[in-house]
Amino acid sequence: MPPLESSQRRHAPGPLLSERLSGLTMRPTRLQIALTLAGAAVIFAIDTFAPLDIEIAVLYAVIVIASANLLERRGILIVCGVCMTQTILSFAIVHGGAFESGPALRILISLCAIGVATMSALWNREAAESLSAQAALLDLTHDAIFVRDRNDLITYWNAGAEELYGWRRKEALGRNASALLKTRYPPSAGGAEQFADQSRWQGELVHTRRDGGEVLVVSRWSVQRDESGRPIATMETNSDITEQKHAEDALHQARSQLEHVGRISTLGELTASIAHEVNQPLAAVVTNGEACLRWLLRDEPNLEEVRIAVERMIGNSRRAAEVITRLRAMARKANPTRVALTFSDIVADVIPLIEREMMSNDVALKLDLQAPAQIVLGDRVQLAQVVINLVVNAIQAMSETGDRPKILSIRSGVSPEDPEARMAVLQIEDTGPGIDPEIAKRLFNAFSTTKPGGMGMGLSICRTIVESHGGSIAADTGNRSGALFTIRLPLLR
Ligand code: ADP
Repeated sequence: MPPLESSQRRHAPGPLLSERLSGLTMRPTRLQIALTLAGAAVIFAIDTFAPLDIEIAVLYAVIVIASANLLERRGILIVCGVCMTQTILSFAIVHGGAFESGPALRILISLCAIGVATMSALWNREAAESLSAQAALLDLTHDAIFVRDRNDLITYWNAGAEELYGWRRKEALGRNASALLKTRYPPSAGGAEQFADQSRWQGELVHTRRDGGEVLVVSRWSVQRDESGRPIATMETNSDITEQKHAEDALHQARSQLEHVGRISTLGELTASIAHEVNQPLAAVVTNGEACLRWLLRDEPNLEEVRIAVERMIGNSRRAAEVITRLRAMARKANPTRVALTFSDIVADVIPLIEREMMSNDVALKLDLQAPAQIVLGDRVQLAQVVINLVVNAIQAMSETGDRPKILSIRSGVSPEDPEARMAVLQIEDTGPGIDPEIAKRLFNAFSTTKPGGMGMGLSICRTIVESHGGSIAADTGNRSGALFTIRLPLLR
């Protein structure tokens, strides 16, 4: 199966619906103009030089209606004026100054017919223009919008659909929508049933584009009804979320990597108990060694006791060696690779992963990254994990702040204090509630958390990683209108 891809502009947009609707205002061809003029001239000639018993001037109304398909509002008014002038001119030529009520009534009817035709042409034009304006709006949106009738045949296809799926409007119109887009529903969608019940549906779908690539879309359906309420078509509005999905997956992956590092860095937390485990057998070795010496130094050395003590010493030494072996096996997994990099590189790696999380939590990002030359030696993945953890904590903290603006600031620079020991500095600040004083003192200890489902491992892992890079991490715990975390790493000289 081809991988999911996000849309790219591959086609120049085709003719817009607004353009099609404004077919009424398409430039008239010379032939059309000539025919209209000829029609008006013929009517004038017959009306003037071969007067019939019928009021031929009524036919000017046809000329006005025909011109409505060719001309703008001003043009229609000019045609109306010309037709009326010709009608009056013919009347003047044929009847001279003599006034007769019959012909006068007939010319009045003709003039009325031309007027009514003009007004109706102008109304039609207005309606077409308003429809065309609405259609132009549908073409402005980046969403892919199409309409399919009750037989699933596409009757409308906007510019966004052309862009997302790759088929031009004229290629898509009349095709079967499900077959064209090879629509696939996630098993839980229940689309058709819910749609039948409520005339509305929203969910995620997979569509196939013209080039065979698949796109994941959020699809919103609504039913269109005729005047008597019968469903006649379905309008689908589809937004491409393929890239967002990729970002979510990447974030998920980054989090599970963080958890993996968590397992490794619990080593730091476990150092004390590991030391205890190694100390115990070592102490036993010493005790047994001393006992062994005592048995040997007796007047009559008790070799059997010596053998037992030596066996115990060997056993305990093996236990200690096993603990060390386990420790080394765990440590090997961490296997950090150090390269020269800057905090800007790390932040650039992290932003795409957290963008979606920020957007859905309404968080604004303020970046102030200085001096790309501030190079440190570090493990790119581990340092990215530190930044992700701090950012995710900040976003979570700000989600509790209600209406206060949610701003995440990421700044980098160099600590100016001591020119000899200058460090690269990264600061991550939020506008959340700040650090709870309850846990301020043990913030970086494992299992310190104020979150109901929290593990309290994130910050402890961050500290382990930063310290293993020869740096430090600190939090401003006194500030109750936001938290500020500062990471310092030695500059590569
Ligand atoms: P967890 O997120 O699982 O609780 P962490 O080590 O990431 O573990 O964080 C420990 C605690 O530190 C959090 O529960 C929270 O109380 C506090 N904390 C961390 N970051 C922030 C922040 N940006 N604003 C306020 N409190 C924070």
